Amino acid sequence: MKSGEQYGFAKINLHLDVTGRRDDGFHTVKTVMQSLTLCDKIIFTPRSDGELTLSCNVPGVPLDESNLVCRAVRAYSKVRGINIGGDIVIEKNIPMAAGLAGGSADAAAMLKVLKEIDPVGIPIARLYGIASELGSDVPFCIAAGTAVGGGKGDVLRPLSDMPDCTVVVACGKEGVSTPMAYAMLDKKYDGFRTGAYEPRSTVALKRALDDGDIFGVAANMYNIFEEPISAVRAEVGQIKEAMLSGGAIGAMMSGSGPSVFGIFTDDSLAQKVVERLGDMGIFACICKPQK
Ligand code: ATP
Repeated sequence: MKSGEQYGFAKINLHLDVTGRRDDGFHTVKTVMQSLTLCDKIIFTPRSDGELTLSCNVPGVPLDESNLVCRAVRAYSKVRGINIGGDIVIEKNIPMAAGLAGGSADAAAMLKVLKEIDPVGIPIARLYGIASELGSDVPFCIAAGTAVGGGKGDVLRPLSDMPDCTVVVACGKEGVSTPMAYAMLDKKYDGFRTGAYEPRSTVALKRALDDGDIFGVAANMYNIFEEPISAVRAEVGQIKEAMLSGGAIGAMMSGSGPSVFGIFTDDSLAQKVVERLGDMGIFACICKPQK
């Protein structure tokens, strides 16, 4: 095998709601996901001794077998019936445990590298099967762009591209674990299992995407996690307020938080908000929707 590198793009949820809770405890969701140009890079150099090593430019990323990149290589190797060894560098820009699918983006990038450099390869449907087993956001991170996800978020249908805009992504210091976030939802809503909970419609959001109407997109975003997580992570509300008062046409928490994204139609306003958040000691960056 040769060397290879690929980008893994962060995702935001323009819509995220729960549609039910299965007997095995998994929640089913309906979500509209959007990739961003904010991305990590995976660089793979094969090794002839079959060892797998990981390195990363930021501290705190697990560098053992628990890393989703490692798990992606192991899962791909198993399907191919070979042992793939190599040195892997993760260039990380996506904040961790933020609801931006950073780990999933890395796993997706690794699978894209393997698909590209493997002279034998596997069918694309099998690649998506591996992705789905690694995590519910991994298939979307391979597909990228704009899509609606059902099931655990991994049953995907592409949607019209997000209209041109500038996106500011910001993230408070204290992360949120996804299991904790779902436990909070279960406490708040008892209708997931019985079917009494009515999920919100995505019709207006999808129509706005079809019409290329960025104001319609911004006006119809929803995230069921935003209210409960805001109650325990004060920075979520502070960031949202800073974005909206700074000229965002809409702002919403992404995934199970605590990252918040704001949609801007004016780049200079977006830049000012990034500076203001920086002054507040909050990480923020500017990016664009990734097609
Ligand atoms: P999720 O909603 O799927 O939990 P997230 O976007 O909130 O994801 P990630 O950045 O994917 O958060 O990190 C979640 C956890 O996954 C981290 O705390 C880390 O221990 C683990 N992890 C495994 N592999 C990676 C990776 N390549 N990059 C970042 N975190 C990883």
